[in-house]
Amino acid sequence: MIVREALQEGCRTLGESGIEAPAVEAGAILCFVKNCDRSFIYAHGEYELNSTEEQMFGELVNLRAKGKPLQYITGFQEFMSLAFEVNPSVLIPRQDTETLVEAVISYVIKTRRMDECAPDGGGCVRILDIGTGSGCIAVSLAHYIKYSCVTAADISEKALQTAMKNAVKNNVADRISFLESDIYSGLDSYRGSFDVIVSNPPYIPSDQIDTLQREVKDHEPVNALDGGDDGLDFYRRIIGGAAEFLKPDGMLALEVGYDQAAAVSKLMETNFCGISINKDLNGIDRVVTGLVKPVLSLEL
Ligand code: GLN
Repeated sequence: MIVREALQEGCRTLGESGIEAPAVEAGAILCFVKNCDRSFIYAHGEYELNSTEEQMFGELVNLRAKGKPLQYITGFQEFMSLAFEVNPSVLIPRQDTETLVEAVISYVIKTRRMDECAPDGGGCVRILDIGTGSGCIAVSLAHYIKYSCVTAADISEKALQTAMKNAVKNNVADRISFLESDIYSGLDSYRGSFDVIVSNPPYIPSDQIDTLQREVKDHEPVNALDGGDDGLDFYRRIIGGAAEFLKPDGMLALEVGYDQAAAVSKLMETNFCGISINKDLNGIDRVVTGLVKPVLSLEL
């Protein structure tokens, strides 16, 4: 079979199974099989696939037709213009989450915490990423904030292994430490040490998991999605402990579900001030940030 026929057949199979952009995805799968870029397959329509390539392409197209996300097939997702390895132990990085990373970068620039840092790393901006998953947030922050030291925590060992690979792949492994931890459980020695705590926690209400696209509900790790009865379980735990782990004036930055910004802001009111909400590129309230309130010492 030649490249053009394979693309046509792949496109038909994917289209029939309801995939929205079948030609693009068939092309991506063929590029993966042939380990080439898109321009090669479009410029070489007459190129004959060998039998291994043909068989592999057919199998992967069928997996995609059955709902396996393209990113778990190719093992790749781009995020913040960086390359990330992904697998079914980690959530696939979403573009929405770039809004969260950008909020942290702007805060660090605005507060000039970057300028205060010594190039030897002695005075680095200390960031905690809770539920790091693929490491997309931790790695992007380490990449774009050169004088940062990031602690990337996750309850899943497999996720941490993936995050470590992504740190190595993006040359920031020397500034990220990885920690198996259920929210703050493994962080006892880090009290009062972070300039920023950032998280994209699981936030889908349990009874809505079934309503998600098949790609998400049948393939992505449910422990990275399920936020409990009202979707807010992890916000309560993260917000409840954040003040203890932040430095004075430190920032908490949270990604939220499309209708959760008000509820999460409310949860933050007790211990945080300057609460603000950022929209994602679709105009949806996506990120809530706040600065830890100074502890009032009462001198009578
Ligand atoms: N944004 C993801 C989704 O829509 C959910 C991610 C999360 O729960 N943190 O599927």
